[in-house]
Amino acid sequence: MTMNDFSLKDRLALVTGSSQGIGFALAQGLAAAGARVILNGRDKVRLEAALQTFKAMGFKGIGLDFDVCDPVAVTDAIDQIEINHGAIDILVNNAGIQWRQPLEEFPPEKWTSVINTNLSSVFFVSQAVARHMIPRRKGVMINIGSVQSELGRPNIAPYAASKGGLKMLTKGMAIDWGKYGIRVNGIGPGYFKTELNKALTEDKTFSDWLTDRTPLKRWGNVEELAGAAVFLASDAASFITGHILYVDGGVTAQL
Ligand code: NDP
Repeated sequence: MTMNDFSLKDRLALVTGSSQGIGFALAQGLAAAGARVILNGRDKVRLEAALQTFKAMGFKGIGLDFDVCDPVAVTDAIDQIEINHGAIDILVNNAGIQWRQPLEEFPPEKWTSVINTNLSSVFFVSQAVARHMIPRRKGVMINIGSVQSELGRPNIAPYAASKGGLKMLTKGMAIDWGKYGIRVNGIGPGYFKTELNKALTEDKTFSDWLTDRTPLKRWGNVEELAGAAVFLASDAASFITGHILYVDGGVTAQL
């Protein structure tokens, strides 16, 4: 093994939901390791701003707005990428949403959008990408789960159900596509200060509880997720598939 095994030079990566937050940090990490990255989101203005920032950092990027919950738009986008930009080597399924409400009051349409965005979309995007990767007999996928793939919290049962389902979808993808040389792993982030977690970062009681409960005694910085993504995407992880790597300051280690 050499340090070159960690390089993503000349690889093409698609990171869904990468116009801000964790996705944007993962995109930067993959690009720093040498990849060209396709940034994605639905809001065109936010996506364009992220792309400009990305390029100003000296990274190679392309912006493509599409809704990961729309299977037709997804297939179109993936076909477009393969034709216009080349073979997708790395797919990071990161787009996700949160909705907090007691389960007895949880609106059915919010259940549907949480499950669609966090779980069904991963099936749509991964299947569309796999259909291109399978004939090439290679490819890497990384699904962004959560510590809620393992642990529950009040008022977010649908989110936990989506992320728990994503853990098992990750294993199923690894099993069905391993024979084609496609590796599929997950990253389970702990608590990071992003838009998705605004309600929690602004809640001092929660923040104090979290930092006390976390063995490393702090929130995570989004940049701290990039190393795991680069590693799992690289040849250094060539025999790792179906694994979930928790990047959580130790949260899942302790009751
Ligand atoms: P943000 O809300 O900050 O960013 C979400 C991104 O996803 C945005 O770029 C958004 O852009 C995009 N997005 C949302 N829905 C869609 C869609 N239907 N199609 C395409 N893009 C979409 O979230 P985070 O960065 O915090 O979270 C990213 C991932 O990490 C999620 O899967 C989340 O569950 C997971 N996670 C986050 C944790 C945290 O502490 N923040 C902890 C554990 C897991 P737009 O709205 O323009 O579409």
